Amino acid sequence: MPTPETAPTKPSHFLRQIIEADLASGALAGRHFAGTPGDARQLAQAPLDSARIRTRFPPEPNGYLHIGHAKSICLNFGLAADYGGVCHLRLDDTNPEKEDQEYVEAIRDAVRWLGFDWVSAGVSHEYFASDYFDFMWRAACALIDAGLAYVDEQSPEDMRRNRGTLTQPGVNSPWRDRPAAESRQRFEQMRAGEHAEGSMVLRARVDMASPNLNLRDPALYRIRFAHHHRTGDKWCIYPMYTFAHPIEDALERITHSICTLEFEDQRPFYDWLLQHLAELGLLERPLPRQYEFARLNLSSVLTSKRKLAQLVDEGHVAGWDDPRLPTIAGLRRRGYTPGAIRLFAERIGVSKSDSWIDYSVLEGALRDDLDPVAARAMAVLDPVPLLLTNWDELFGAGHLEPCQAPVHPHQPERGQRQFLLGPKVWIERDDFALDPPKGFFRLYPGGRVRLKYGYVIECTGAEHDPDGKVREVHARVVPDTRSGTPGAAAVKVKGVVTWVGAADGKPAEVRLYDRLFLQDQPDAGGADFLQALNPRSLRVAQAWVEPSLAHAAAGSSFQFERHGYFVADARDHAGGRLVFNRTTGLRDGR
Ligand code: ATP
Ligand code: MG
Repeated sequence: MPTPETAPTKPSHFLRQIIEADLASGALAGRHFAGTPGDARQLAQAPLDSARIRTRFPPEPNGYLHIGHAKSICLNFGLAADYGGVCHLRLDDTNPEKEDQEYVEAIRDAVRWLGFDWVSAGVSHEYFASDYFDFMWRAACALIDAGLAYVDEQSPEDMRRNRGTLTQPGVNSPWRDRPAAESRQRFEQMRAGEHAEGSMVLRARVDMASPNLNLRDPALYRIRFAHHHRTGDKWCIYPMYTFAHPIEDALERITHSICTLEFEDQRPFYDWLLQHLAELGLLERPLPRQYEFARLNLSSVLTSKRKLAQLVDEGHVAGWDDPRLPTIAGLRRRGYTPGAIRLFAERIGVSKSDSWIDYSVLEGALRDDLDPVAARAMAVLDPVPLLLTNWDELFGAGHLEPCQAPVHPHQPERGQRQFLLGPKVWIERDDFALDPPKGFFRLYPGGRVRLKYGYVIECTGAEHDPDGKVREVHARVVPDTRSGTPGAAAVKVKGVVTWVGAADGKPAEVRLYDRLFLQDQPDAGGADFLQALNPRSLRVAQAWVEPSLAHAAAGSSFQFERHGYFVADARDHAGGRLVFNRTTGLRDGR
């Protein structure tokens, strides 16, 4: 049962119902486990599992995790937490060619940053599938000996052809009924490196006529003379996913093996394999069960490690943590928070049918998470100088007027930001119009606005470059109108303009990110997503920011008033150089 604290706030879904039913029926009882994965004999020595359920997040360390993985992480770790269980971090490293230690570390980093932990009650539940290669070998040998697997020496083309189609049954391999001892000998030779890649595979002996193609004698092992990032050159045969994954789950005593819908057709083989290995005495019952949920499809981004790798490798973005990528590292650098991503995962829920989630849902969760915490600041992203021509006359030459504004409008306890108003300030270029369109309430000759937290001013005109570009805007201060003073309300204005003082403003680089693709589904139907790249996905602005940002910590988030949410860049904002990334606008602008 969910704990009383969590139960009412979280909406139920089919996986919760399954878990609750399993806990109620006692179906999960009798599992032995104390942190060391093992076969039936080894586990029999272990105490009964104290975790009420076990889930796992099983990424392949062949790239950086993305927002789709975040959904799976939140689901698996979240369910374990809610039901008194444990979630394992399993590095599914059965595919030697593309895997790397760099990715292992990036995965750990991403899971921890999201706020989850595979260490439970002092026991680390980080596991590597490659640690199970010895067991997998034994399991494969046992299947061969029991007549449940055979070495097939057909050419890959024949194997493909003889597999049949959705409407045509498959054709038995001529090697299917060879004696078990002969398969066993061949399998030993495969392991010893005596056969070429592609010359033979080990296959399960199930049913070549099954309507489910996954049951037509799926391949279990193939030959690959590849160096593995952990096992080195010990192996030249590697298990296939369909064989490895159920075994990994069983050795780790996973109760609910949650995967995406593409694997639904593999469930019958998952069960076939585990049942047989349990009958052969190799695995302890009760066996894990696989359940499928709909993957996250998020508009305007790619959620495939392979395609993201292509963007990185071909230099279309600046690395795996490029703030335009939906990788967890990229989202983080963009200014996304763990809380926002968890909130997003909760809002999109879990279902059994595929759908598309609009990117604005992710941004909405982000705003809701940032708004109550982000400190406010003023920044001018496209600066033009504004000269207050009566300043010296009103206040005396050299006077600077201290102004203040709340760090957060709804949290007075966080105090005030301080900055100085003087005769020269920076304003946004588009806050001035020589010929204002109807309804323009900012600066134009004769128009009055308030400089936010400062005085009301009246625009008197502007100077232009020969090409017509505004060089500086001129205005006069309207006396006795300062914000927070008794006369402030006496002069009514329709517009308020944000600004940064030239006396104490700080120069900053502001990276204005836009969506990476111009289309909502850049890879739909196998389309070449490179064609859909947005050439303007990054614009760098030389901005001025208020002095409170001079000591902003890298990675901290701000709301730049009127502009949106920004984060001090985790990499380049350092050593006195101010660099901010635009995280998202103030409201959905798409
Ligand atoms: P990719 O195609 O990006 O490499 P993958 O599924 O091959 O994704 P894995 O490393 O095998 O990558 O995934 C680890 C876990 O994350 C799996 O359990 C998988 O189901 C889950 N996962 C991957 N992509 C998504 C997604 N878009 N939505 C939900 N879960 C996902
Ligand atoms: Mg995968």
